[in-house]
Amino acid sequence: MIDLSGKSAVVTGSSRGIGAAIAKELAAKGANVVINHSSKNSRSKAEEVAESIADLTDPGKVIIKQADVSKLKEAQDLINSCLHEFESIDILVNNAGINRDTLLLRMKEEDWQAPIAVNLGGTFNCCKASLRTMMKQRWGRIINLSSIIGMIGNAGQTNYAASKAGIIGFSKSLAREVAARNITVNAVAPGFITTAMTEEMPEKVKEKLLEKVPLSRAGMPEEVANAVLFLASEKASYITGETIKIAGGMGM
Ligand code: NAP
Repeated sequence: MIDLSGKSAVVTGSSRGIGAAIAKELAAKGANVVINHSSKNSRSKAEEVAESIADLTDPGKVIIKQADVSKLKEAQDLINSCLHEFESIDILVNNAGINRDTLLLRMKEEDWQAPIAVNLGGTFNCCKASLRTMMKQRWGRIINLSSIIGMIGNAGQTNYAASKAGIIGFSKSLAREVAARNITVNAVAPGFITTAMTEEMPEKVKEKLLEKVPLSRAGMPEEVANAVLFLASEKASYITGETIKIAGGMGM
């Protein structure tokens, strides 16, 4: 049985979707969790996540912190809120992510830069802000959300795919830098998961994606959260620099 009591976690972008499921799973196993969102409008969603955690049996403590992880100062404030409230940061899940899907011919510079800034830049910012503490305590778990799209590509997603492929290279390199300090860095690569991000897709695109899934269905956020929980736990102590696909067989 996984027990995370005494551990503190930051889950970026945890006001809904996969991040919310990860925050719940970690708190259910006793971790203290910082729930993060970037926009004022999603505060109530973050509160709903906190309330659903409070309903669990013996969960860890939870605080909510608004921060845009693409901005280094806000990412530092986010990690500091965890250090201030829970006196450590043991688990960092870089989940916050956005897409700006369009074909390259039509892609504006801002469409290119935004997913890179949030997905890849946010991962850099939060890792940078957490690393000193993890190195001092000689224990840390960093789990970065990549995507199957970063591995196999997808028309209309050059920007998103580049950010998610970047996360894989980033994770492997950081894993090598910090392994001697007992910090593991892994990535997970979800396939097609039912969340607000995929609900926005046109039906035809969804159907085409599902045709590529051997398990013939979309995944649930909880199915991603289960893998993240494992990587965050002592049970994954000898796994670092890996990317685990959670994609129902897509891209195998
Ligand atoms: P989602 O439902 O759109 O949720 C995204 C979360 O990220 C929200 O809580 C959002 O909060 C937050 N966020 C966005 N920009 C942020 C920023 N700059 N700073 C802090 N938080 C920010 O997305 P999801 O589908 O759960 O995806 C979660 C992660 O999994 C993403 O990295 C995504 O790329 C990856 N992924 C998803 C799928 C899928 O099929 N759903 C597949 C592969 C990978 P605000 O609204 O407040 O900004």
